[in-house]
Amino acid sequence: MSKIILTGDRPTGRLHVGHYVGSLRRRVELQNSGEFEKIFIMIADAQALTDNAENPGKVRDNIIEVALDYLSCGLDPEKSTILIQSHISELTELSFYYMNLVTVSRLERNPTIKSEIQMRNFQTSIPVGFYTYPISQAADITAFKATTVPAGEDQMPMLEQTQEIVHKFNSVYGETLVEPKILLPDNQACLRLPGTDGMAKMSKSLGNCIYLSDTEDEVKKKVMSMFTDPTHLQVSDPGHVEGNPVFIYLDAFSKDEMFAEYCPDYSCLQEMKDHYTRGGLGDVKVKKFLNSVLQETLAPIRASRAEWEKDIPAIYEILHKGSEKAKEEAAKTLSEVKSAMKINYFDDKELINAQSLKYQKQV
Ligand code: ATP
Ligand code: MG
Repeated sequence: MSKIILTGDRPTGRLHVGHYVGSLRRRVELQNSGEFEKIFIMIADAQALTDNAENPGKVRDNIIEVALDYLSCGLDPEKSTILIQSHISELTELSFYYMNLVTVSRLERNPTIKSEIQMRNFQTSIPVGFYTYPISQAADITAFKATTVPAGEDQMPMLEQTQEIVHKFNSVYGETLVEPKILLPDNQACLRLPGTDGMAKMSKSLGNCIYLSDTEDEVKKKVMSMFTDPTHLQVSDPGHVEGNPVFIYLDAFSKDEMFAEYCPDYSCLQEMKDHYTRGGLGDVKVKKFLNSVLQETLAPIRASRAEWEKDIPAIYEILHKGSEKAKEEAAKTLSEVKSAMKINYFDDKELINAQSLKYQKQV
């Protein structure tokens, strides 16, 4: 079976370093590994509208931001098809059929949806579209026959939901859809990068992000004012590295060789952590090192973005072409789905003959 990737992001803001370690960095590696026959990267505007229905301008404006972030991180439109979700009407149609295979109580149990509802203060006014977005995500994944979905930990319940829909569909209508697997980051710190404020998740909607497109000064300012260990008041106090976002970011981004260049007192992160835990290492020194690490990671991305920004119409053209190509793929799957469900009336000569025979007999 050919290996196919589908993954994507909601255009609700520019992409941040959580996206980078959670999914984007891996995507580029997988793209360049040559192991995958097809790669689809989706800008999920229709999904973004499920909780931004009254703010379509935000979604519209962020499409180009997300595309710029993709390209500047190394996604190559020659190797990866970048597409806009709303352009592929087949996805909406698939979602409509999959809705019949999922119960309301199953949707209610989805832990990511539960926490997102709380985060957005929806309480009892949850838009139906938002509630059902795990189903539309199943349509996105299966439309491209994806085998592999590189994503952060918060996407696990979505993948489980997709797998259930695939099983149900195939058992009711016959083997048609492909079961996908999630590909989580190997590094524990990257599963769900916390916010600069210490909140459990860096998220565009929470405003606790370091963006890939932030300037050198913005990154520095954000790092230097990051939440750390609240019990580490004096340099001499013993500190905690677990749950401390500064150390979690170092786990996600630093490499041993960076110590020689930016903080030669230590040869590896463990030595720095041991010193912090013993006491005697101040937050400012750790933050300065983190700033150097992030600047080294982000500088090439920033430079590449500046190049891409020179020709915005060319980027819309990349998105248009990618969406057209993706639409063809999704149309093939939709046609197979409709045949399996036996709702392809006009292509079904047997059906027309059988019905016609039935009525001829009655004459
Ligand atoms: P929103 O708040 O609008 O939902 P978001 O910041 O959660 O935005 P998404 O577009 O929903 O971003 O997520 C895109 C991808 O990035 C998913 O694969 C998700 O798992 C991953 N991701 C998002 N935030 C993080 C994070 N803090 N750490 C690791 N991965 C993340
Ligand atoms: Mg999200």
